[in-house]
Amino acid sequence: MTFLLFLFLAAGAPKDAVAETYTYWIEPCSRPDAECEANDVQLAEWALSAWQKASAGTLKFEKSPLSKARIRLYWASSGNQGLYGEARPIMVDGKTGAEVNVRPGLRALGHKVEGEGTKDPLFRDTIVYLTCLHELGHALGLPHTRAFTDIMYSFEYGGNILDYFGRYRRKLGTASDIPLHTGFSPEDQKRLLAIYQVPAKDAK
Ligand SMILES: [Zn+2]
Repeated sequence: MTFLLFLFLAAGAPKDAVAETYTYWIEPCSRPDAECEANDVQLAEWALSAWQKASAGTLKFEKSPLSKARIRLYWASSGNQGLYGEARPIMVDGKTGAEVNVRPGLRALGHKVEGEGTKDPLFRDTIVYLTCLHELGHALGLPHTRAFTDIMYSFEYGGNILDYFGRYRRKLGTASDIPLHTGFSPEDQKRLLAIYQVPAKDAK
């Protein structure tokens, strides 16, 4: 139902409601050491679409060459133990953007997460999708929260990581269900709309 409402809002939003256009580039999955899978590029695209829906038409994402992209998403191959991804601010043609690193390999995420992701490909896709969503949230200016229900929740506040990913995983029958379940919470959406100056009531 929520999804249909978003579609309705997107269709009904006036064209001049777009507050911000972000050019973006997603690294193709071509380096074996990155431990990505071909479909991960699609997962990242779906995460961008989810934020576009959350923005109720105020954000627009346009694919562009790397040199022009304000949001640049890379598949990271190494990093600190337990690191899912990171986003750091960059400037592109005088505008703020972000370099986003998402780590699709599960080996460094602990035995439980790795075990679940290895036996269940949809659990693995859930981790990659939600990590893209979280890091792209940072790219759009969203900080961490302490609420376990938020996509911007940080594991540094504790909580069961398997439960966090599992609740999303249980909504999926196949990977093609991912765009039907955005993964952000109403609070995440309110915070996004606050940044881009759209009253929350307009986005119910
Ligand atoms: Zn974060």
